[in-house]
Amino acid sequence: MTPLATLTEALASGRVRVIDLTHTLDPDFPVIVLPAEFGQCARFRMDEVSAYDHRGPAWKWHNLSMSEHTGTHFDAPIHWVTGRDVAKGSTDAIDPAAFVGPVCVIDCAQGAAENEDFILEPAHIAAWEAEHGPIPPGAWVLMRTDWSHRHGAAYLNLKDDGAHSPGPSPAAIRALLARGITGFGTECVGTDAGQAAHFDPPYPAHALLHGAGKYGLQCLRNLDQLPPRGAVLICPPLKIKGGTGSPLRVLALVEETP
Ligand code: MN
Repeated sequence: MTPLATLTEALASGRVRVIDLTHTLDPDFPVIVLPAEFGQCARFRMDEVSAYDHRGPAWKWHNLSMSEHTGTHFDAPIHWVTGRDVAKGSTDAIDPAAFVGPVCVIDCAQGAAENEDFILEPAHIAAWEAEHGPIPPGAWVLMRTDWSHRHGAAYLNLKDDGAHSPGPSPAAIRALLARGITGFGTECVGTDAGQAAHFDPPYPAHALLHGAGKYGLQCLRNLDQLPPRGAVLICPPLKIKGGTGSPLRVLALVEETP
């Protein structure tokens, strides 16, 4: 059997399952809130055009509006100033091979439960590799925190001094880049920790990943349904000309353990 025939048979038999890592696009789903002096990210909005009525008797459809960075979404290199000159750095230009690849899940759920400012460090990556083997080149690395179980204000967790949510340290992102990853994803509203403005460099996931021509995913869910390694991620953003990111459906192919 060819590799793809093996895959399609495994999908048909249920030996490979499709897991949805996506939140529903909904006007109530929180978007990132920046300090008031900056432009803001729009929530999802859906306007009815017709609904089997005088505006269109046999059909129903909607017009949509949102930010490129609303809901479960993809960050392209040109999203950040460090990646502004990256070749093929917009969503329409990225090599589509980047959108399908092996995925490693680093379980930080306990740490994030104990500390809402939990930071992923190189030691956590080293411990993961000691147990599961090296992170393969081209991998997507996802930081599981179970943050996706939160709703509303608790999801952004804004306080007087800004947002409090888990994320990676600069050293952790450098360690992942040294392994040749394709991208990094989180369950929070951004790839960076809530307090990452105070890191050096500020917002290291954005600054370092995108400067290196790598990609981000955020607002992921169901990471607790993925194995630490062995799953395949599928995450093609919309092909927006000059797009800095896009809402998308993120799927994972997971082998059932017999
Ligand atoms: Mn984004």
